[in-house]
Amino acid sequence: MFEGLAEKLQNTFKKLRGKGKVSEADVAEAMREVRMALLAADVSLKVVKDFVARVKERAVGQEVLESLTPGQQVVKVVYEELVALMGGTSSKLTLSPKPPTVVMLVGLQGAGKTTTVSKLGLFLRKQGRRPLLAACDVYRPAAVKQLQVLGNQLDLPVFSMGTGISPVDIAKGAVEHAVAHGRDMVLLDTAGRLHINEELMEELKSIKSSVRPHEILLVVDAMTGQDAVNVAESFHGQLGLDGVILTKLDGDARGGAALSVKAVTGCPIKFAGMGEKPDALEQFHPDRMASRILGMGDVLTLIEKAQANMDAQMAKDMEQRLRKAEFTLEDFLAQIQQMKKMGPLDQLMGMMPGMNKMKALKDVQIDDKDMKHVEAIILSMTPEERRNPQILKDSRKRRIARGSGTSVQQVNNLLKTFEQTRKIFKQFADMRGGKGPGKGPG
Ligand code: GDP
Repeated sequence: MFEGLAEKLQNTFKKLRGKGKVSEADVAEAMREVRMALLAADVSLKVVKDFVARVKERAVGQEVLESLTPGQQVVKVVYEELVALMGGTSSKLTLSPKPPTVVMLVGLQGAGKTTTVSKLGLFLRKQGRRPLLAACDVYRPAAVKQLQVLGNQLDLPVFSMGTGISPVDIAKGAVEHAVAHGRDMVLLDTAGRLHINEELMEELKSIKSSVRPHEILLVVDAMTGQDAVNVAESFHGQLGLDGVILTKLDGDARGGAALSVKAVTGCPIKFAGMGEKPDALEQFHPDRMASRILGMGDVLTLIEKAQANMDAQMAKDMEQRLRKAEFTLEDFLAQIQQMKKMGPLDQLMGMMPGMNKMKALKDVQIDDKDMKHVEAIILSMTPEERRNPQILKDSRKRRIARGSGTSVQQVNNLLKTFEQTRKIFKQFADMRGGKGPGKGPG
């Protein structure tokens, strides 16, 4: 996500940082580039204009231009304004003092509602809640079945009454069921339509007035860019939203919706969908997102993911070995298997400070087929070679390729990936030790 925007902004700021002294003209030029980058990312024109004006005003001020590191200071201003644009602090779900908390998810067809209901259920359960999913989408064929299947896979209870009954009754029934069975959250999957229309809004309004949800969250597809923002504006106008969940941010290279939604509608983004898998839902943190956009990484999310997914003892062992610079190809194999549980490697890389995604990544994609090769290659090495891959000259590489049924090029690729991964883990270990680059501009 944000690749295009991140790359452009980073190039602009690299130029600025390279200068000892920064003039007003330099700032103006940089802002022209920022403006174009934001527009290309499909951020709405008004938002772009306001944003650039605010940054410019602050950036040509004395404390920036006359500081020792004016280039850095401009980046700092942009960072702070990006955070503010996305809402400043992260917004959590409001919980009802008297359970169950009822959360109603609304949105157009295909936005990702049903998927998100199950993801949110999983997310909440990890936080110790007892969610009940409720199938109120009686409109889209197979939506009820879809939710039941997802709930089954994740071992989350699903309340359904088929499709021959009004969604208002299903919603009420779900709340009663939650009360009777000690469920403290009810997540309503409501019906969408291909476009906003009166029938849809009437249906949602009647659910709203009958069960009085504590949170109404709009699910919108980030890939639709400014359309997502328009949809949010209309839903908010008619229904009153408490927040937005942006889905498919993993696929949106532009990211305009993430940057405009709050500014245009006043509704905070509460969660971001980052993939199709059930655990691909993140709480939305404006500061972390701004950090990623500016290439400063998102160390906090990375650490949270590691904590949630890595075997604790293993992570500790690895960290210790890293500190002693003992990370070997055998560890590498074990680590790839662990990392795969954390999510797609390219997303993880985007969270590393200073990692320029596009370039480094092409070589670091590892899929299941590659995994088998990786394993075969490493197993074809001698223990000495695994500990000390520098000794791998051509003749050894040819032997390994033969032994593992791969090519010398595949062996080379693996070694390159290993080196890159070793660097990542090294940085990671440094951060956990508190020495490495922190969050925030720098
Ligand atoms: P609904 O009509 O709003 O209920 O939409 P669905 O939940 O059926 O989702 C539509 C499609 O979007 C499905 O194929 C989902 O797997 C996909 N989807 C949902 N959220 C995400 C996401 O965050 N990233 C990606 N890549 N796909 C998603």
